[in-house]
Formats: sequence, structure tokens, C-alpha cells
Amino acid sequence: MKITKAGASASTKGPVEYFTGMVRIDARTQADAPARVGTATVTFEPGARTAWHTHPLGQTLIVISGTGLAQREGEPIEVIRPGDIIWFSPGEKHWHGASPDVAMTHLAIHEALDGKSVDWLEHVTDAEYQPAG
Ligand code: MN
Repeated sequence: MKITKAGASASTKGPVEYFTGMVRIDARTQADAPARVGTATVTFEPGARTAWHTHPLGQTLIVISGTGLAQREGEPIEVIRPGDIIWFSPGEKHWHGASPDVAMTHLAIHEALDGKSVDWLEHVTDAEYQPAG
């Protein structure tokens, strides 16, 4: 058993290469092999979101607070709220983030394949984030 005490690691900022807007990442974990699971608590300020990306072994999100948005390629944007559980299949191109006016925090759970749990793609443009009409 290993207990990592609350506050043991500093919050980090979501890097501009992979995120738009203010994103804070806390309590990042990655289990040692042969386990694969990793987690992060991610807080998106209003309007902030990930870039488009995929996960080699998929990802589960559990919304903790606020109001968020999520979209898989080719489908409408969905509103996600506290308690909602979102699953992205392996290789499914998607993004997730806050709504335009309300922040959102989610727990992210994903497994690493060959040491990698995400493949980053292009940023989500303002037009994609807030489609006209
Ligand atoms: Mn994701």
C-alpha cells in the first residue's frame, strides 16, 4: 500500500501545446508496470478545453463539478455535468473542457500502452468550440 498525501505534489498548468485557456492538473498518478492505469484531476476555467486527441486504450471521465462540454469527431457537442461518466473508446478522436461561462473539473482515468496514454492532435478552434447556430 502507498498513500500519497493530499497536497504532496504541486498543481501544474495544462501546456499550451495541448490545451486552450487556463487548465490546472492535480493529483496526477501513473501506476508502475505491469499495471497501466493513470489518473488526473483536471480543472478547466470557462472556455478552456483540451486539443483534439485520442487515447490508445480509451479513457473514462467522471465529472466532479461545474458544467463541461465533450465531443467526439463527427458528432454534436454534448453537455456534461457532475456525476456524468464519459467513456472514449481506444483511438476515438475527441476533446473535453469547460462550458463557455462555467468552469468544469473532471477525474480522468486512462491506461498507458508502451508508456503512452494520449496522442495529441490539433487544437479545438473557437469555431469548433462554439459553432454558430
Ligand atoms: Mn481525452
